[in-house]
This record gives sequence, C-alpha cells and structure tokens, in this order.
Amino acid sequence: MVKPGQTNGPSRPLSVKVGPFIYKITYREDMDPFREFCGMSHHDDLEIWIKISDEVKMKEIMTHELMHTIIHIYGGSPPDGADLPQERTVNALGFGWLQVMQDNPQIVEYLTREVD
Ligand SMILES: [Zn+2]
Repeated sequence: MVKPGQTNGPSRPLSVKVGPFIYKITYREDMDPFREFCGMSHHDDLEIWIKISDEVKMKEIMTHELMHTIIHIYGGSPPDGADLPQERTVNALGFGWLQVMQDNPQIVEYLTREVD
C-alpha cells in the first residue's frame, strides 16, 4: 500500500533481496525534512527509501544505497590476508553485488533500462 507522500511509480522495483534479507523499496517525495538526504537504508526495518527526482539520479541513489546495504550485510568479517579496509569493502561488494544481481532481475532491468 502506498502512503501519502510516497509513490512507487509505474515500473520501479519494490523490493530487493540482499543476502537472506528482502528489503522493501519506497520512492518518496518526503525524506527527512531537516537534512538533505536523497536515499536512506534502514537495516533494522529492512527498508530502502529513495527520493523521487530525475530517473537517472534515482538509479545512482539506488546503486549507492545497495552498496551500503551490501556492506552492511556482507562486510562483517574479512577473509584471511584481506584485512585492509579497502580490500574488505571490495570483497563485500564482490560477493554482494553478484548475489544482488543474480537474485534480483527486476533491479538489473531497472538500472540498465534506457531513460527517455
Ligand atoms: Zn551514503
């Protein structure tokens, strides 16, 4: 159900599976009115909020929030010999982005769709 101030648009993905978790995606006119966030990942609530704006910008925001979520889910423990922060991040993104693309064809279709 879409609440006031939210819209899901005609054909944007409404959920994404990251690791074992399914996050609900909402597209919002209203974000935090006191701060200029364009996107937010709420890991306790399994929700990703994306501010409605230019469609290409929204795809960038979605990708940005998915990276936060992947690092949150996959970034806990580095493998042996990969203790550098950057290596840990890249490792999380390597496993995580592969899983997200494989399990979410709706996200891949949306992000790679041409914008008019
Ligand atoms: Zn961020």
